[in-house]
Amino acid sequence: MNKTEIKYYLIMAGSTSHMLRGDKLLKDKAVGTSLVPAPSEYGTVCATAIKVKIEDKEISEKILRENNITIEGIYPDKPRRLAGLVEKLMDSVISPEFMEVLKKIEDGEDLKEQDIVLLLSTERKAEKEALFHAADRMRKEIVGDVVDIRGAVEFSNYCRKDCRYCGIRKSLDDLNRYRMCEDEIMEVVHHLHEIGLKTVILQSGEDLWWTPEKISSLIKRVKDETKMNITLSIGERAKEEYELYKNLGTNNFLLKIETTNRKLFDFIHPDDDYDHRVKCSSWLRELGYLNGSGNIIGLPGQTVEDIAKDILFFKEMGINMIGIGPFVPAKGTPLEGYPQGDIEMTLKAVAVTRIVCKRVFIPATTALASLDPDGQTKALKAGANTIMLINTPAKYRYNYQIYSDKNMVDLESAFIAVEESGRKMPPYLKVKREDCIK
Ligand code: SAH
Repeated sequence: MNKTEIKYYLIMAGSTSHMLRGDKLLKDKAVGTSLVPAPSEYGTVCATAIKVKIEDKEISEKILRENNITIEGIYPDKPRRLAGLVEKLMDSVISPEFMEVLKKIEDGEDLKEQDIVLLLSTERKAEKEALFHAADRMRKEIVGDVVDIRGAVEFSNYCRKDCRYCGIRKSLDDLNRYRMCEDEIMEVVHHLHEIGLKTVILQSGEDLWWTPEKISSLIKRVKDETKMNITLSIGERAKEEYELYKNLGTNNFLLKIETTNRKLFDFIHPDDDYDHRVKCSSWLRELGYLNGSGNIIGLPGQTVEDIAKDILFFKEMGINMIGIGPFVPAKGTPLEGYPQGDIEMTLKAVAVTRIVCKRVFIPATTALASLDPDGQTKALKAGANTIMLINTPAKYRYNYQIYSDKNMVDLESAFIAVEESGRKMPPYLKVKREDCIK
């Protein structure tokens, strides 16, 4: 079989609500689908497409038409070849083994674990540059030049869990705990809506004070008052709860696996269970969320093989948004004394993830911005296509330091990163750079 023949089709619906309804209808009729960023050449910027297997194309089209879902177009999910990638590099100092993997990328072949390990392990300048270049081309071909901008509100730092790396873990006694009330959260949401953003990320510790009723009420208000897309990042909850939030219109869910090495997972999560976390992620996928995951780079004892396995896990799980950040030692945590994660390794992981997972959202993470003032620009040049602004009100922000010295990712720094990486701000943004100079 030709390794690069077309296996999937991408269905573009007429609007976000048609896309979500259509996806649900297909899933209910047992058609396997996933939601992926729409190719830049076909769609409205940053829109999401429904991906179906080639053999399900006709039945999907039929189901959607019968249910009055507007279809804007159906396109083959073309295998991505990066023509000329290797030829351009012939004069550089690149080992034959590394060149072989680059050739696979050029030909659109799937990478194996050992290929990924090879890419991640390189310390040679020319090889790193080639890797970033390949990821940047893949990003450009697949999701285009627009950087999606989202706004995050960290609405509670109460947490029932004791993750060893985390700066809001349960047993940190001298931390001021806060919960924003619904009105305070809505004030931020309205601000984000006014500046034109399409997605708000509601993030918190695992805070059960926020019952399903309270979270539902918040979701309804965001939807009623702004119609914005909602990303929830509130940790592990029952499947029924995830379903409730989905039915109320929540679009995305972020639940990072952090590491796929079980032993390491157990060590950093004294009160969590690896299989259960994976199960939560599968539920989210089943329920039709745009499914977010990710990992932390540079955890104590983590190997390059572990990172390669993480990336293959994202691919196998059909993850749509992948947050990759360096480990940042947080004050007062048991891991405070460990060295921070390596920035270069984080960037290499971003690049390989773009190459392997292709049609996904990859944020230039806050953790990266915390460790390197140019971190966001570097990530955007290595395959990332999203920026998450931190919009938690100043009076609370200091107390949501999941890692210490968390850098404020604000609109101004986003403008700078987008400009420096030669990219475009999204057309929906209603403010200009001059408007946000402090
Ligand atoms: N409670 C939610 C949200 C977690 S905070 C949940 O369980 O999903 C969001 C992310 O911050 C985490 O998933 C983790 O990857 C990252 N994070 C927390 N502490 C960190 C640290 N010290 N260094 C790097 N990343 C960290």
